[in-house]
Amino acid sequence: MFYCPNCKSQEIFPVAGGCVGQIYLCKDCGYRGSFVLEIDGADAFREIEKENKDHPK
Ligand SMILES: [Zn+2]
Repeated sequence: MFYCPNCKSQEIFPVAGGCVGQIYLCKDCGYRGSFVLEIDGADAFREIEKENKDHPK
């Protein structure tokens, strides 16, 4: 599963990357970049939620 590193949304999709490699676009916040969060299970997602609470924006 892929998550947006900016807003943690799952609404992130690969777009044409050109010569720099795969680029992803977040539909929720407009984030665009090659780095996305890849999460295998709910435990990992909870860790990120916790991290987000410890360090609010
Ligand atoms: Zn986003």
